[in-house]
Amino acid sequence: MIMEISSTKQYNPPMHSAEHILNQTMVRMFNCERSFSNHIEKKKSKCDYHFERNLTEQEIEQLNFKVNEIIQQDLPVTEDFILREEAIHKFNLQKLPDEAGDNIRIIKIGAYDACPCSGLHVSHTKEIGTFKIISTDFIEGVLRIRFKLEPV
Ligand SMILES: [Zn+2]
Repeated sequence: MIMEISSTKQYNPPMHSAEHILNQTMVRMFNCERSFSNHIEKKKSKCDYHFERNLTEQEIEQLNFKVNEIIQQDLPVTEDFILREEAIHKFNLQKLPDEAGDNIRIIKIGAYDACPCSGLHVSHTKEIGTFKIISTDFIEGVLRIRFKLEPV
């Protein structure tokens, strides 16, 4: 059940969809920016955030809990197209490829997250499986979160 959308990105859709939820959860928990860099693969992935410190064990537990709570709600993942002029005021478009054009694709995860993206996603969040942070570290202003998914 994967939305077929032409894209140059070859992400693993469940992992990439988990990345959307993790980013929104980081924004809500810490009022930080979404990850500025990431590496998404089927077995394990990592997201980097501009941050001030490493996370505590308790915060890691909270992140695992919150991301899985959203996954378990089986929220629909949908797309919307809005004009670039409108998108500029609502979203950071820096990570979109230049060829994204004047109609910007917004990926919504229920009412939890909305983010411009040209990648591949699951159609409902339960398809992601169980999210688990493997480790975190903090080096020179960059918090790195490594995570994996356990099958549904
Ligand atoms: Zn995406």
